[in-house]
Amino acid sequence: MSSVSQYFKGLFQGIGGLLTGMSVTWTELFTKKITQQYPENRKTLVISDRFRGELVMPHDANNEHACTSCGICQMNCPNGTIVIKSKTIETEDGKKKKILDEYYYNLGSCTFCNLCVLTCPSDAIKFDNTFESSVFTRGKLNMKLNQLGSKLREKKKPEPKPVAEKPAAVETAPAAPKPAAAPASVETEKKENITSQDSADSATSDNVTKE
Ligand code: SF4
Ligand code: SF4
Repeated sequence: MSSVSQYFKGLFQGIGGLLTGMSVTWTELFTKKITQQYPENRKTLVISDRFRGELVMPHDANNEHACTSCGICQMNCPNGTIVIKSKTIETEDGKKKKILDEYYYNLGSCTFCNLCVLTCPSDAIKFDNTFESSVFTRGKLNMKLNQLGSKLREKKKPEPKPVAEKPAAVETAPAAPKPAAAPASVETEKKENITSQDSADSATSDNVTKE
C-alpha cells in the first residue's frame, strides 16, 4: 500500500473516531442530570431519614428530656463514645433520686452502629441526619447533649378510674308470718264432724231408698 493511501485511511479513521466521541458528548449534554451541585443546593437537599449523622437528645418546649441517666447506652457503646455524669438529688417526699447531670457524646469515635439508640429504654436519644460535622479542632467533636438547665420529663401518672357507685340496697318487705299450726284437738274435732256428717248423709240416702 502506498504512503498516500495510508495517509487517507488514517485521516478517515480519525474523523470517524472524532464523530463517535462527539455523538457521546452531545447525547450526555441533553440527558437528565443525576449528580447534585453541593453546597449550592444545600437548602433543597433531601437527606434520607435513615441516615445517621449525629446523636442527639431531643428536648421539648419545657426544656425537658427523657433520659433517666440509667447508663445503659454508655455500657452498650463499643467505643466508649458516651460518658454520662449523674448526680443524686432529694425529692419533695424525702427520697434520694439519681438524675442526669451531663451527657457527653464524642462524634469523633462514633461508628454510628445505633446500639445506644436501640437499647435506650426511654427513647431519650436518636440520630438526626445532620451531615455537615466538620470542625477545625478535635475537641469540638465531643458534645454535651443535654441542654443547660434541662431536666427529666416526669411521666404522667395514670388517672384513677372512677369508682362505680353501688346500687342502693333494695328494702325487702318482712316475710308474712306463717299461720300457726292448728292444735291437734281442733283437727281431730274437724275430722269427727266431717265423719258424723258423712254418716248422717248416708242415713238420709238410705231412708230415701226405702221410701
Ligand atoms: S452509635 Fe454506636 S458507637 Fe456511636 S455512640 Fe452509639 S453505641 Fe457508641
Ligand atoms: S440515653 Fe437512654 S440508655 Fe442512655 S442513660 Fe439516658 S435513658 Fe439510659
